[in-house]
Amino acid sequence: MRRGIAVSPGVAIGTAYVIHEIFVNPDTKRLEDTEITAELASYETARDKATADLRALEKKVDAQVGHDEATIFAVHQQILRDPAFTNKIRNWIVEEKMNAGAALHRLLGEYTAIFSKTKDAYLREKLDDIRDVIIRVSSHLKHSKSADKMVEGPLILVADELLPSQAVALGDFDVHGIVTQAGSQTSHAAIIARSRGIPAVSGVKNMLRKVKTGDTIVVDGRAGCVEVNPNAESLAAFRKLEREFFDLRDQLATNRDEKAQTKCGTELRLEANINGVSDAKAAAAMGASGIGLYRTEYLYLTHSDLPDEDEQYEVYRDIIAASPNHNVTIRTLDIGGDKTVAYLGHDHKEANPFMGWRSIRLSFEHPEFFNTQIRAIVRAASEFPQGTARIMFPMVTTVEELRKLRSMIRKAYKTLTARDIKVKELLFGMMLEVPAAAISIDTMLDLVDFVSIGSNDLVQYLMAADRDNPKVSHLCQPLAPPVLRVLKHVITACNESRTPVTVCGEMAGKPKAFLLLLGMGLRRFSMSPAFVPSIKQLASQISIEEAESIVATVMKFKTTAQVKKYMTRQIEQVAPNLAILDSN
Ligand code: PEP
Ligand code: MG
Repeated sequence: MRRGIAVSPGVAIGTAYVIHEIFVNPDTKRLEDTEITAELASYETARDKATADLRALEKKVDAQVGHDEATIFAVHQQILRDPAFTNKIRNWIVEEKMNAGAALHRLLGEYTAIFSKTKDAYLREKLDDIRDVIIRVSSHLKHSKSADKMVEGPLILVADELLPSQAVALGDFDVHGIVTQAGSQTSHAAIIARSRGIPAVSGVKNMLRKVKTGDTIVVDGRAGCVEVNPNAESLAAFRKLEREFFDLRDQLATNRDEKAQTKCGTELRLEANINGVSDAKAAAAMGASGIGLYRTEYLYLTHSDLPDEDEQYEVYRDIIAASPNHNVTIRTLDIGGDKTVAYLGHDHKEANPFMGWRSIRLSFEHPEFFNTQIRAIVRAASEFPQGTARIMFPMVTTVEELRKLRSMIRKAYKTLTARDIKVKELLFGMMLEVPAAAISIDTMLDLVDFVSIGSNDLVQYLMAADRDNPKVSHLCQPLAPPVLRVLKHVITACNESRTPVTVCGEMAGKPKAFLLLLGMGLRRFSMSPAFVPSIKQLASQISIEEAESIVATVMKFKTTAQVKKYMTRQIEQVAPNLAILDSN
C-alpha cells in the first residue's frame, strides 16, 4: 500500500497505464548493424502515429471544447515537424546505434538541460510541450512492441504529473483512476479528475519505480492510497467498494432536476467551479444552479500573448451561454503563486510567490490589461439580461483595494456606454482568502454585494502551510479548529449584515466540511461539478437544527483529529451511503 494525497474521492480498480514508464528505465542496449534500418522505420512509424493523434485531437478539441484549447495540439505538430528534432534522433540511431526510445530519452535530457537554465518563464513552459511530444512518440514505440495490453479495459493512468495535453485528451480513454508522483490538490491532474468524478491520488513517492503498464492497480481516492497487484483478499474488498462507488454515482446522477434543500426544507444554492466551457456544460448536466467560480486564468494560460478585449469577450460570452440559468460568477485573473504568465512580466522567481505578486496585486500593476478584462466581462454579461452575472476579485486584502476596484468598474461602465454599448451593472464581490480581510470583514461589507470564501487559500494562509506542499499537508487542513473559528466569524458577519456569502474552496464539496458550513449558517456553496449530486443528497438527509448542533459540539474541540473523528461518525450516521465520497 503506497500513500499519497487524496485529491479526488472514490475507489477504482484497473490496469495501470504508465505514461512516463519509458523514461524510468530506457533500454540502453546498442543495436546490431542489421537492426538499424528497422529501428529507423519504427521511429518513423511512431512519429507518424503521433502526428495522426495530434491532428485528430486538434480537430476533436476544436469542435468539442474550443479553438483556443485546440491550439496546443497544433503547436505540438509543429515541434514534430521541426527537422532538428528528427535529425538528431535519426543520427543517434545510425551513428551511435541507440534504439529509438533511448534516443528520445536523450533528446529530452538535452532540452531539459538547455531550457531549465533560462530565466524566461515562457521558454520554460515550452519545455512542457516538448516533453509532451517526446512522450507521445515514445508511447507509440512501446505500443508497437508490447501489444495492446496497454490500452485495454478500465485504465488507471500513472504519471509523474499529468501534462496539459494529456489532461485535455483524457476523454479518449476509458480512464477510471489517476495516480501521480508529483502534484497536489490544485494540480492539473487533481482539478481535471475532480471535475470528471474520477478517483485520484497525487504525491505518491517513487510510484513510477513500483508499477509497470499492465499491472493491476487500486486507487483509493478517499484514503489517499494506492495498491499495486493486491492479493485476492484485498482485491475482493476493493471491488466491493468500487461497486458501491459506481452504484452511488449512478444513483445520484438522477437527482439533477431536484431542488437543493435540507431535510427541513431550507433551500440551498449549489453552484459549480469551472475553468472553461466544457466544465460549464458539465455543471449543467450535474444539476448545479449556476457557476460560483469561473477561474479566468486558464484562458490566459492557454495563450502565448495577451488576448484582446474582443477575444476575451467571446470566451466569457460562450461561458455564460453554456452555464445553468446564465448564472455565472466570473473571477478576474488570479495568476501568480504556482501559475505564471510570462507576457504579464511574471518571468522571475519570487522567494514567497504565494505571498507576493499575485492576483489583483499583479493586475493593478497592469491597468491596461486589468481594465480590458473588466470591460470584456461587463460586455459579455450585458448580452444576457435574463441571467445573473457577477464579477469577483481574488485576494482582496484591504478596504483601499475594494474602493479602487469599484472605481475601475464604474470606469468600465462609462467607457462602454460611451461606445454605445448597453451596459448591465454587475454584482460586485470579493474573495475572502486573506486572514487580514477575514478579521476585519465587518469593515468591508458595505463595499461589496457578496463575499465568496476561497478556503483553499484562506487555510494555507491561516495555518502558514503551503497548499501544494505534501510535507505540510497535515497542517493545511480546512477542519482545523482555528480555521473553523475564522469561517464561523466571517459567515456570521455576512449573515448579520445580509450580505450573500458562499464558500467556493474545495471544502464546499466535501461531506464533513459541508455539514459544518451548513451548521454555521452558510446557504450557498460552489464546488467541482461532479460533487453537486452527492452534496444535494447529503443536504436532503440533514436538518438545519441537526447541523447547528453538530457545529456547537465541534467548536469545543481543540484538535483537527478530534474534529475529523467526530465528523466521520456524523457522516456515518447521517449519510452512511456517502462516506465513500469523503477523503480522510
Ligand atoms: C480558493 O482559494 O479557495 C479558491 C477557490 O481559489 P483558487 O483555488 O483558484 O486559488
Ligand atoms: Mg484562491
